[in-house]
Amino acid sequence: MTDQRDRNSTILEGKTGVILGVANKRSLAWGCARSLADAGMKLALTYANDRLGDAVRRLAEECPGSITLPCDVTKPDEIGEAFRTIGDEFGHLDTIVHAIAFAKREELQGNFFDTSKEGYMLAHEVSAYSLTAVTRAALPLMEERQGSIITLSYIGADRVVPNYNVMGIAKAALEASVRYLAADVGPRGVRVNASSAGPIRTLSASGVRDFNTMLDQIAEKAPLRRNVTAEEVGDACLFLAGPHSRGITGTTLYVDAGYHVMGV
Ligand code: NAD
Repeated sequence: MTDQRDRNSTILEGKTGVILGVANKRSLAWGCARSLADAGMKLALTYANDRLGDAVRRLAEECPGSITLPCDVTKPDEIGEAFRTIGDEFGHLDTIVHAIAFAKREELQGNFFDTSKEGYMLAHEVSAYSLTAVTRAALPLMEERQGSIITLSYIGADRVVPNYNVMGIAKAALEASVRYLAADVGPRGVRVNASSAGPIRTLSASGVRDFNTMLDQIAEKAPLRRNVTAEEVGDACLFLAGPHSRGITGTTLYVDAGYHVMGV
């Protein structure tokens, strides 16, 4: 792993990126931040609220040259302000990592048909619509940079996963957004892709009822017979952000030990 990291250490030098969704060291956003920073990218790390600010500022110390700023994606003014600041600080933007999702705990168990209208709207606003809002705000900074926008999805977007419920519908909207956004911004040289990760124990994942059962099922049935790590998701993000994926847009790349190819 060290050798691989060393080889990657300059591939993104001179590039800048924003990572939305770091809450703590377990966050998939943090796995992505580490892979991009290790490859030389200068980062802006955003946090959803003041409660998370200190933790994110401490983590940012591990990413040389990085800045931190608030960005609650349900607040359009905050999105606008965040990207104005990034423009002032960096001048341009090469990569966005959108690693954000939210649904109320009570919507992540029981019957999907019990989903409230409010819970449905909230899950979609935070987990799906925000990708479009962020893309619009960031586009002026990304044009002519061969920029890459990456979001994180889950197999619940196209299969029924027990208890994932409204989040599966939001992920389906997110993956469709990836395709529409890719078509919109491709002529401006910007790419948009999703990475669909296998289950990993994080703060958000702990809200899904019986999450351990999902982990056990992957370890038993996935071709690689194991679960994946945040570092592996981070390295797939490095691929999608970097020059080796320059011909790829509008797609969903699975980082799930191959589980998605199995019939059960
Ligand atoms: P996490 O809890 O570490 O990260 C979720 C982040 O979303 C947090 O940083 C939280 O602050 C942020 N967020 C929530 N509401 C927000 C708002 N209004 N504005 C801005 N930020 C907000 O959990 P995670 O598992 O790392 O989740 C990151 C992404 O990865 C999510 O999109 C999740 O669906 C996806 N994902 C996770 C798994 C998994 O098993 N952990 C698998 C596949 C995909």
